[in-house]
Formats: sequence, C-alpha cells, structure tokens
Amino acid sequence: MERSFLSDRAPGPVLLSHGDIRKRVLEMGREITRDYEGRAPHLIGVLKGGIIFHADLVRAIDLDVSFDFIALGSYGLTTRTSGEVRLLKDLDASPEGRDVIIVEDIVDTGLTLDYLLQFLRTREPASLKVAALLDKPSRRQREVPIDYLGFEIDDRFVVGYGLDYVQHYRNLPDLHLLGN
Ligand code: IMP
Repeated sequence: MERSFLSDRAPGPVLLSHGDIRKRVLEMGREITRDYEGRAPHLIGVLKGGIIFHADLVRAIDLDVSFDFIALGSYGLTTRTSGEVRLLKDLDASPEGRDVIIVEDIVDTGLTLDYLLQFLRTREPASLKVAALLDKPSRRQREVPIDYLGFEIDDRFVVGYGLDYVQHYRNLPDLHLLGN
C-alpha cells in the first residue's frame, strides 16, 4: 500500500508476513487448546489493535470459546504513548468466574496491560492469562506477564495486521515497519 493521502508516514518494509503470523497464531491456538482442555475460555480482545489477532486466534482454538471486547486508549497523535491509560469501552458481560484470556496486539511500555490486569482482577475471573501477538521488551516500564506470545520485536514502530499509525494501515495483511 502507498502512503495514505491523509497520513504523513507510509508503511515501510515487511517485518512479519501474513504467512509467518498465521503459522505462529495456529501454534498459539493449539497451545491454548491443550492448556484449557475441558474448559471454555473467554477471550477478551483489546480494541482496536488486537481485533485481527483476536479474530485469527479464536478460530485456531478448538474449544467452546466465548469473547468480549474492551477499548483502552493511551495514544495521542504520535508513535509514543501519552503514559495515561483510559477506559473507552467497558466489557459487555461480566467476566466473573470465567477463564479469561486477554488478547493484546502488542505490549510496549506495559502500561495498558498493567491497567487492564488490575481492572480485570477486580471483576474476579476464575483465571486470568494474557495472549499477545508482539512484545517490545526493551520499552517496558511495568512488569507484566505474557503467557502466550507470538513474536518478540525490537523497538521499532510497526503497522498492519490490526496495528495503526494514527488510525491508518490497520488493514494491511502483513506487519510492516513504519516508513517515512
Ligand atoms: P503500552 O501501553 O505502551 O504497552 O502500549 C500498548 C498499546 O500501544 C498497544 O496495544 C498498541 O495499540 C500501541 N502500540 C505500541 N507499540 C505500537 C506499534 O509499534 N505500532 C502500533 N501500535 C503500537
């Protein structure tokens, strides 16, 4: 895709192809299927970045899965977090007593996930785990657990497969570095 006429930055080279991601997501689905045998995990997708990963992951799990979505915000009009996490959309249903798996696109500073874990613990799920497609450990400000991880990446801003640059490029099938 070329640079959107509404954006000052274009997608750059592909970091992970859709094929690479698909292969890894299928493995993660198999792992979750094995770990949750006999249970019905409740997968909470974090809008909007986690939506494509969530859609692929739930279909890779061979169990009676249910799902919900929550929206959190921390970004302004830049590639850096504002440091303040806000709840933009609450869950539709209570996760109390459920085996919850949070589905995040990327863990960067960890502030969003830290907030979400604290928020969900107060709602008393039976268990609480985290599945993240990407991890940028070099940027971490909060220690957060990631139970199922797709890929660890360097400190580079990425777009595609649900991730955006100021709301652009979420629909790219591959994951790209952000270009100029
Ligand atoms: P954290 O709170 O700093 O861990 O940031 C988490 C959120 O920031 C993610 O859910 C993404 O929405 C966004 N984010 C962090 N890094 C990137 C990136 O490289 N590309 C797009 N969004 C990102």
